[in-house]
Amino acid sequence: FLQVRNVYKRFGANEVLRGINLSVEEHQVVCLIGPSGCGKSTLLRCINGLEEIQGGEIRLHGDRITGPGVDLNALRRDVGIVFQSFNLFPHMSVLQNITLAPTQVLRMPQAEAQAKAMALLKRIGLAHKAQAYPDQLSGGQQQRVAIVRALAMEPMLLLLDEITSALDPELVSEVLNLLRELAREGMTMVLATHEMGFAREVASKVCFMYEGVVHEEGPPEQIFTNPQHERTQQFLASII
Ligand code: ATP
Ligand code: MG
Repeated sequence: FLQVRNVYKRFGANEVLRGINLSVEEHQVVCLIGPSGCGKSTLLRCINGLEEIQGGEIRLHGDRITGPGVDLNALRRDVGIVFQSFNLFPHMSVLQNITLAPTQVLRMPQAEAQAKAMALLKRIGLAHKAQAYPDQLSGGQQQRVAIVRALAMEPMLLLLDEITSALDPELVSEVLNLLRELAREGMTMVLATHEMGFAREVASKVCFMYEGVVHEEGPPEQIFTNPQHERTQQFLASII
């Protein structure tokens, strides 16, 4: 479904992705773990066309999504991304935040976009906040709105970059619960995460990244209880 093949990404002299390979099947939840700076965010940004790559290729549903001639707007319709820091537009209401892309990009009629947005808000228990502005919501509420805003585009793939890292611990679970639900419904997701408990419970596959490659990958039980490589063992020991 998603194939990252031998991808290289440099920032100046800093080679961040060094021939990385990753494959994701439809309906899988793939968790990327690894030390700070190993390239998790960069990889997600490359998949969404936010960064150009210097070598290799990425395919989604068989179509090449890197290199010349790629329609980035089409790519970003198909691939949603949610970041660590809340990226809601502060000057727009919650409802406007969610309806913006469907009306502007998909040309969905306003009434339809609003009905859909309200259904999504209802689902996360925030219908009563539709007219509120982002700064009137808690961090966990903002992050859930950011997720449903991405869902409003009906993406075929959702990328999530440390979306709970900036949250107070008591707000983390409400965001993870939403991800659990999406996983159950079969949403294909790639997450960079430090939430090892969540990765262990929900991931179809865990990929340990180290210095710009996937150093070890496997089902969560294997990676967390019986990692084969020393780097993986060291990393897991360092975070427990
Ligand atoms: P963390 O766990 O801290 O989020 P990460 O695995 O997501 O780390 P990246 O953000 O992908 O790591 O960064 C990998 C490397 O790429 C780092 O050395 C970083 O300094 C560098 N880097 C990332 N973005 C840029 C950029 N826009 N310009 C220059 N260097 C960058
Ligand atoms: Mg990162």
